[in-house]
Amino acid sequence: MSLRCSLGFHLDEWKYISEKSCTQELFCARCGRNRGRKREIHDYSEWEFLFPDKCDQEHVCRRCGDKASRTYHNYSEWDEYRGEVRSDTSPLRESLHGSPTPVSVSTYQIVHYSRKCERCSHVESR
Ligand SMILES: [Zn+2]
Ligand SMILES: [Zn+2]
Ligand SMILES: [Zn+2]
Repeated sequence: MSLRCSLGFHLDEWKYISEKSCTQELFCARCGRNRGRKREIHDYSEWEFLFPDKCDQEHVCRRCGDKASRTYHNYSEWDEYRGEVRSDTSPLRESLHGSPTPVSVSTYQIVHYSRKCERCSHVESR
């Protein structure tokens, strides 16, 4: 064993443990000791759309065949559109003539934002 390994300074190197598996284990490149750690490194292909008009994507690991999926929308910019006009009136007060009149009226407009996926037409709003 090299001096540095015997002092605990191993030369860490991740290695695949089998051909069809994406699990790597950590070994020391100098003394070969298994360092007791594992990780998974997949070799995924590019994301591919499953249907022409849907946003579901899938990619497959070239090594172990593991599949992963996601939904990836292709949204346009946020669109602003103005909705209904609302007015707030403060409480009614009896006028001198006996008919109720609003004391003050303030109007405001509700503004919505939405964006649409150019691929599947899914609409997201906020
Ligand atoms: Zn070592
Ligand atoms: Zn894999
Ligand atoms: Zn979409």
